[in-house]
Amino acid sequence: MFAKVTTAHLEGIEPVLVEVEANISSMGLPSFSVVGLAETSIKESKERVKSALKNFGFNIFAKPIIINLAPADFKKEGTHYDLPIAVVLLLAAGYLNANVDDTFFIGELSLDGKLRGVRGVLPFTIFAKEMGFKRVILPEENINEAGIIDGIDIFGFQSLDDVIGYINGEVKKEPVKMDINELLSDEEEHLDFSDVKGQFAVKRAAEIAASGMHNFIMIGSPGSGKSMIAKRIPTIMPSMTIDEIIETTKIHSVAGRLLKKNGIVNKRPFIAPHHTASDVSIIGGGRDAKPGAVSLAHNGILFCDEVLEFKKSVLEVLRQPLEDRVVTVSRANRTVVYPANFMFVAACNPCPCGYLGDSKRECVCTQAQIQRYRAKLSGPLMDRIDIQVQVSSIDIKDLSKLQPGESSASIRERVEAARKIQQERFKEEGILYNSQMSEKLIRKYCKLDSESIKLMEQAVTKMGLSARAYSKILKVARTIADLENSENISSKHLLEAIQYRILDKEYF
Ligand SMILES: [Zn+2]
Repeated sequence: MFAKVTTAHLEGIEPVLVEVEANISSMGLPSFSVVGLAETSIKESKERVKSALKNFGFNIFAKPIIINLAPADFKKEGTHYDLPIAVVLLLAAGYLNANVDDTFFIGELSLDGKLRGVRGVLPFTIFAKEMGFKRVILPEENINEAGIIDGIDIFGFQSLDDVIGYINGEVKKEPVKMDINELLSDEEEHLDFSDVKGQFAVKRAAEIAASGMHNFIMIGSPGSGKSMIAKRIPTIMPSMTIDEIIETTKIHSVAGRLLKKNGIVNKRPFIAPHHTASDVSIIGGGRDAKPGAVSLAHNGILFCDEVLEFKKSVLEVLRQPLEDRVVTVSRANRTVVYPANFMFVAACNPCPCGYLGDSKRECVCTQAQIQRYRAKLSGPLMDRIDIQVQVSSIDIKDLSKLQPGESSASIRERVEAARKIQQERFKEEGILYNSQMSEKLIRKYCKLDSESIKLMEQAVTKMGLSARAYSKILKVARTIADLENSENISSKHLLEAIQYRILDKEYF
C-alpha cells in the first residue's frame, strides 16, 4: 500500500517542503530502501526507525518497502526525518487509520522508540503554519520552541507509541500553549554597565559604537576589564523587536542551541569564540550545515578576545559577513546564506608581553617585537573597525573609592534615540546605521564647516591619516553628533572621533 506524510528540509534557516512517501509491495523479498537523495544521516534514520518499530511489535519488514523523499532534486539530511518515516510506514502498513494530510511531522527516534528533540524546530513550525498545516507533531523536548508560534496546534510527545495512540484517537491531548510574554520576562544572568567602575572613556566609546553600530577594538593590558565591558555591550543596544527575536531564535534553533532552554532568544546574543576556533565554527557550514558564530551573533555582538591570536584564515573569513551582513557558505554544489548582522568587538594586548603603557608593570618587549605585533594590527580586518580605544587598568585601591557606573538602561535610552535619528535619515537610503554609509552618503550627511575642514586637514598632515581612516572619523563624528541630537557635525565631535584612531597615531 502507498502512503504519504509531510515534513521539510532546512536550506540554511529556510525550510523547503518534503513529502515522505512509502510503498509496501505485497509480493517480493524483504527489502527496505530510501530514495530521493538521502544523505548518510537519513540512511542511519532507516536503522533507527526499523529498530523502534520492531520494538513496539510492528512486523512490517517482511515485504519490499521503498521510502521516497520528494522532490528528489536536492540532498536531504538531518535526523528529523525519523518520525515522518515511521508514521508513513505505519500508514502504508495499515496500522494507522487517520488522515494526516493537515499534519506536519518532525522528530528523531531512539532505537527503543523514544522521541528526541531536533534542531530547526522554530523555522519548521513557522513554515508549517505558512503552508496552511493545522498541526505539528514533534518531540516533547521541542515544545517550548514551537509553542511561541500562534495559529497552529503544537503536539509534543515522548515516544512513537504516544504518537500512534494520539493519531488513532486512543489518546486525547490538548495542543501546547506558550505565553510569549512569560518567556520574554524571563531573566537569567543579569549584567549591567553599572558593574563597570571608572573606565569612563571606554564606556563612552562603547556607547558610541552601539549607537552607530561601529565595530570596536579595545587595546589594553590583561585584567584591564576589556571582556567585562564587551559582555555588557548587548545591554546598552536597543531592546530586541519581536521580528528580531523570531529571526535570532530561528538561527539558534537551526544550530540546535535551544534544546532544554526556554526556547527563545530574547536578549541580544553575545558570542565569544575562542581564539583556537576553526573557520567552519566561525562561518558555519560543515557536515551538519550549522550556522557559525557570525550567524549566532546576528542582531548582537561577536567578540574576539585576543583577536591577534586567531588564525589568519579565521580573520580572513570574517571579512565577508562584516561587509555584507550575511554569510554565504558553499557546500557540495550549492550555497547556503545565513544572516550575520552583528557588531564586531575585538580586544587585544598592546604588545606581546601585554604591559606596554601600563602604569604598574614594565613592558619587556623589544622595539622589533612591538613593531611586528603592531603590523598585525593593520590589514583588511582592522580596516573594518571604526573605533579604537585604549583600556588602562585601574588600581584596586582606586576601584573601591569609585561610585557604581551609570546603568545600562540609562545609557540605552541615549543609544535608542541616536538609532531613531539614523533610521529617519536613512529611510530612503537602504541602510540602517551610520557605520554603513558609503563615500557618497558620507559626503551627503557629514558636511563640515570651514573650521572643521581645517581641523581635519591638520589631522591628516599630523597623523598621516589614510583616506579610509578619514571616512571612519566622519562616520563616528556623525554618530557623536546624533547622540547630542545635533544636526551639524562640529569640530568638537570631530576631535572626539579622532581620539578613537589611536592606532593611526604614534601610540607605542
Ligand atoms: Zn610588552
